[in-house]
Amino acid sequence: MRFWSGLVLVLTVAGCVQTTALPPLPPPTHQATPAQSAQISAEARVKAQMFVDAAAKVAPVATALCRSKGIAQNCQFRFVIDPRLGLPRNAYQTLDNRGHPIIALTLALVADARDTDEIAFVMGHEAAHHILGHLALQDQNARAAAQKAGDAAAAAGASAEQVRKVQAQTAAKTTLGYSKSFELQADALGAEIAYRAGFNPLRGAAFFDRLPEPHRGRHSTHPDNRTRKALVAKVMARLRRAR
Ligand SMILES: [Zn+2]
Repeated sequence: MRFWSGLVLVLTVAGCVQTTALPPLPPPTHQATPAQSAQISAEARVKAQMFVDAAAKVAPVATALCRSKGIAQNCQFRFVIDPRLGLPRNAYQTLDNRGHPIIALTLALVADARDTDEIAFVMGHEAAHHILGHLALQDQNARAAAQKAGDAAAAAGASAEQVRKVQAQTAAKTTLGYSKSFELQADALGAEIAYRAGFNPLRGAAFFDRLPEPHRGRHSTHPDNRTRKALVAKVMARLRRAR
């Protein structure tokens, strides 16, 4: 079952880690031997434990920071693994039907993580989007952009149907990812959350080294990986000085 579809996905979820989709898995050519199955199970248990350990430490820090900032109404975070196979390495923030913030990491991302520092950094980044109210701001930005594009189309003589189409396309395009400035804000606060939770955000940000550089150009929503790592280093220097 799909959790979300169409416009709902666009309006409530903004993916953060811009990656290219992984190629589909080839069909299995042979049955795993008992030894191979045991090894796969052991590796899966290690990754699952890393996720649980990181979430247990990140959650109270994120909740305390969320309450002290006073922007978000609901600071009771839930951390989940999105189990859908075939999704690329990604993470996102959304709300459940009671308004609780959900931080989701895809199975591919958890499987690829090298240590809890990386998982905690991603969790901190996503929690920061919620703490800073980015989802609501993104929604406002999308509505404003859609209105502007619709007005321009109408002024150019477009039909009502064409105007609606332009508005929907513009809203979808605007909400596909957070803006670069939101991403950098989330990196900075996410690094602080991970640090206060006892993790090393510099090691966590090494995750960026394994991501492809985001597409450059006007429509890119993500800052380049070097800029993001440099920001994390700057935040860490500030936090260490403040100790
Ligand atoms: Zn993000």
